[in-house]
Amino acid sequence: TTEPLAELIAKQEAQKFYKQRQKFDHKGTYGHALVIAGSYGKIGAAILASKSAFKAGAGLVTSFVPKCGYSILQTALPEAMVLTDTEDTFITDIQLNFEPSAIAVGMGIATEKKTVSALVKLFSETKAPMVIDADAINCISENKELLKVLPKYSILTPHLGELERLLGPTKNDFDRIEKTKAFSKKNDVIVIIKGANTITVFGDKLYVNTTGNPGMATAGSGDVLSGVIAGLLSQGYDPLIAAVFGVYLHGSAGNIVSQQVSYEAVMASDISNALGNAYLALF
Ligand code: AMP
Ligand code: MG
Repeated sequence: TTEPLAELIAKQEAQKFYKQRQKFDHKGTYGHALVIAGSYGKIGAAILASKSAFKAGAGLVTSFVPKCGYSILQTALPEAMVLTDTEDTFITDIQLNFEPSAIAVGMGIATEKKTVSALVKLFSETKAPMVIDADAINCISENKELLKVLPKYSILTPHLGELERLLGPTKNDFDRIEKTKAFSKKNDVIVIIKGANTITVFGDKLYVNTTGNPGMATAGSGDVLSGVIAGLLSQGYDPLIAAVFGVYLHGSAGNIVSQQVSYEAVMASDISNALGNAYLALF
């Protein structure tokens, strides 16, 4: 028998990914997720991702933000712990006081030179599984030295624009997938090509998601996904399963919201709030 080229991920598959909680588990069991996100005017990205890491089930979440994000985060998300950069408006030096069990990095961080240096250090020194999103992907596209230190089995979550900045222009879906496979193999990473039919690529393996809707084409939607995947990683889900299952849950949450409020009215915070119902809808 030969392996199928692509696997469709629907409820039946998602159910198999789900890990049941045990009676004597405690918050340490579910790990400590770190969200590195935000810059002046984009602290909301850190809030959405951090909240979504909690909603996916992380035991503890620390948000690392520029100084200007401190009060904003503590007010918007009292459950999160907050660490700040020495710089007020963007991230320049990521100093931690704990060992994260998973990391989501890049949402709204911009692409300043000093931020790139901070990412080089983070990528080369950190052992925790990592979701690399948004401006962290843009930093890689603009500074190829980051490719050399990209941690193995990291999960990159580009939308089409970010993907083409990373890989160069693509002609069509087929071309896009072939180039993404080559990138995944060369760098030993998982790439989630976000869009209407989100495809997770790992080497030659493709996982096509079946949940989600055009209501999810809204600001912050991707920040929620990064947080969800970090929350799953932090609970010990394998990177490939965290990626594929996270995409499924995120789309399912988006479907639940749009059924209640229309496609037009879906907002990213609603998707995050519906993650609980997405878990309940699994069984
Ligand atoms: P971002 O552009 O980073 O905010 O990510 C957008 C998120 O919304 C991704 O998870 C996409 O897969 C999802 N999304 C955007 N447009 C659609 C669509 N037309 N159908 C389903 N999901 C979508
Ligand atoms: Mg995004």
